[in-house]
Amino acid sequence: MKSNHYCPKCKSFSYVRIHRGLFQKYILGVRQRYQCNDCNSTFTNKDIGNNTSLDFDDEKNSIVN
Ligand SMILES: [Zn+2]
Repeated sequence: MKSNHYCPKCKSFSYVRIHRGLFQKYILGVRQRYQCNDCNSTFTNKDIGNNTSLDFDDEKNSIVN
């Protein structure tokens, strides 16, 4: 399976959505951000969109190549 949903910095597929408060979401219009579980860097949907698709092993949850 090919996926570009990985951390742009360390290419880990393990990341979580950072929860925003209602104030940030509706008043400030802050872009949804994600945080990597491995290197703790934060990134956005736009950053993920810039990623090249890599082979993604569903069972092992890791990069194949
Ligand atoms: Zn990372």
